[in-house]
Amino acid sequence: MNHASRIVNFSSGPAVLPETVLNDIQNELLNYQETGMSILEMHHRSENVSQILCEISSDLKSLLKLSDDFEILFIPGGASFQFVLIPMNLLTGHQRASYINTGRWSERAINEARRFGFVDIIYDAKAADHRFYHVPTPDQLFFPADSRYIYLTSNNTVMGTQYHVYPIAPKGIPLVADMSSDILSKEIPSDQFGIVFAGAQKNLGAAGLSIVIIRKEILSACNDTTPSVFNYKTIASYGSRYNTPPVFQLYLTHKIVKWTCQVGGIKEMSRRNLEKSALIYGILDEDSLFWNNRVDPGSRSTMNIVWDMPSEELRMLFLQLAEREGMVGLA
Ligand code: PMP
Repeated sequence: MNHASRIVNFSSGPAVLPETVLNDIQNELLNYQETGMSILEMHHRSENVSQILCEISSDLKSLLKLSDDFEILFIPGGASFQFVLIPMNLLTGHQRASYINTGRWSERAINEARRFGFVDIIYDAKAADHRFYHVPTPDQLFFPADSRYIYLTSNNTVMGTQYHVYPIAPKGIPLVADMSSDILSKEIPSDQFGIVFAGAQKNLGAAGLSIVIIRKEILSACNDTTPSVFNYKTIASYGSRYNTPPVFQLYLTHKIVKWTCQVGGIKEMSRRNLEKSALIYGILDEDSLFWNNRVDPGSRSTMNIVWDMPSEELRMLFLQLAEREGMVGLA
């Protein structure tokens, strides 16, 4: 398949990958960097794989302006695994954690955390507007002093909402953010966060890998009872290779992070996202009743723009016409 035959893929994840990256992978598949073997056949503690991990960490640190207080972990499994690993590492039976409920992925995270301790839902966007059409502003939030951590979903992929201002957690209480669908899409005030995590298949590569950016002081306070393969402290102490990591996914993430740096870093990503989203919101706003985008303008996502059609027939027609124009993944 050549460039001309590639379609326009709107899928939120697994998402479209840069063609230069896909071509690179194709060219390197049989013989990675003159090693005479494929990356798929390479030992996970080899020098080449060590270099990949090391460079992803250093590039992510510079892209996200992370201080040396953070460690980056590479963990098999998607973002949903972190819904479990966060409370498994940080909560014990009698402790409480505060969650902000802004949509499907927050709800899933809340359900998992309840298995490990008490969950206080400190803000429920659904209760406020019945359909998750907004995220809270900092002045709408109250943080219980006994929270072990505060949890939010920075971009609500399904709902089309995104935080444009993040809350500041009280000193000593880490702010945990699921950034699966907006990591690297815009600058973040990294010093406000204790943990930032993301599944790779949207903005960082392919499914099967999560990136967990965690403050070293949180690592040292992780529960010792957490089984080794799930224990952030163990994973960190083995340089994310306590067991065999998904090397191919790491290799792809390495390429995506390098590509992000090459095209101009987060500044350029943010510019592109603002430009693209403004174009689409502009069209939706021309006839908001027809396009039915009900997200609160202050909470609109620059990553996932949701709208619906006035009827099921029009919805099907829109999708059919879009597909005829080579556009898929819109449903
Ligand atoms: N969090 C967010 C914000 C997501 O968009 C998704 C996936 N669509 C998930 C978590 C779940 O990710 P995974 O399928 O990698 O577990």
